[in-house]
Amino acid sequence: MDKAILDAVASGAYIMGAPVKELERLLAEYAGVKHCITCANGTDALTLALKAWGIGPGDAVFVPDFTFFSSAEVVPLEGATPVFVDVCEDTFNLDAADLERAVKEVLAEGRLRPRVVVAVDLFGLPADYPAIRAVADKYGLFVLEDGAQGFGGSIEGKRACSFGDISTTSFFPAKPVGCYGDGGAVFTDNDQWAALIESYRVHGKGAFKYDNVRIGLNSRLDTVQAAVLQVKLKAFEEYELDAVNVAADRYTERLQGLATPVVPQGFRSSWAQYTLRLAGPGQRDALQASLKAAGIPSMVYYPKPMHLQTAFAPSRAICPVATSLCGRVLSLPMHPYITEEDINTVCSAVINAIK
Ligand SMILES: *Cc1c(COP(=O)(O)O)cnc(C)c1O
Repeated sequence: MDKAILDAVASGAYIMGAPVKELERLLAEYAGVKHCITCANGTDALTLALKAWGIGPGDAVFVPDFTFFSSAEVVPLEGATPVFVDVCEDTFNLDAADLERAVKEVLAEGRLRPRVVVAVDLFGLPADYPAIRAVADKYGLFVLEDGAQGFGGSIEGKRACSFGDISTTSFFPAKPVGCYGDGGAVFTDNDQWAALIESYRVHGKGAFKYDNVRIGLNSRLDTVQAAVLQVKLKAFEEYELDAVNVAADRYTERLQGLATPVVPQGFRSSWAQYTLRLAGPGQRDALQASLKAAGIPSMVYYPKPMHLQTAFAPSRAICPVATSLCGRVLSLPMHPYITEEDINTVCSAVINAIK
């Protein structure tokens, strides 16, 4: 890692140096997608996708109610309207049946055009793409896979960041593949969208840098981060993804009887988080306090559903599952280097606290 960073610095090509193109090739190959365009962060990656599709005022973009703010934040930035959809209790991911209900409601109202569904691979688990794709095809929606937490996950061997018409990821340090700062990437098989995204990434460039044909962003991935990510991607492929799956299995085995995360048949998670569902806010908060007293960190992802975020209010969405999950979830320490001993310590503390 030290050598990769120092080589990138010594090259002097801090912006769009050779490691950027090489990383894009490696990422596209890993995800099994024709084009990968890196960018400054996972939020910009979503924005670049919406720009490539020309999403704007009058367009409805369906977003799960239980996710990180970015998944929905990018929608009003383009002048479009987010419509919040409920999630599944067991996987935390978008509920395809509720998506269809929401699309029908928007059509019946006749005020907005249904255009895109943002499917989030929450906590590392791919969303239910077979079911989501069926609804998207029926109503002519683009599928935008927000794989910020999902890189490395798969369904029947097909990898995350290949499920959307356009897919995105984030290299924020805490994601399954993190860099030493901010970073992101966009994936697509479509040549035309890939070319548009390359242009939007650099100020809407045309044939050359000082020929600007559209209003774009400054959203490049730094050369140093690309060099870091090449090293991280290799470790991820060779052992980190397997290691988090071993850790998750250990947690699930030792926490039998609790509502541990569900991974459907044929799915593989990259375990961005390992998240328990408790009985309610009382039990969850007491458990978190008792872990804290034992020196064990834990986090609530996410304490507030999208439709209740002040920035989106007032929203008429009713997403009972997402709302209930916000009061009951707790994420335990999870990373590829967690030891069996640490997992045992955490599990004993959880079990004692709940008793
Ligand atoms: C982290 C995250 C993003 C945004 O990524 P940044 O690189 O932090 O901009 C988007 N969506 C989800 C689901 C995320 O977890």
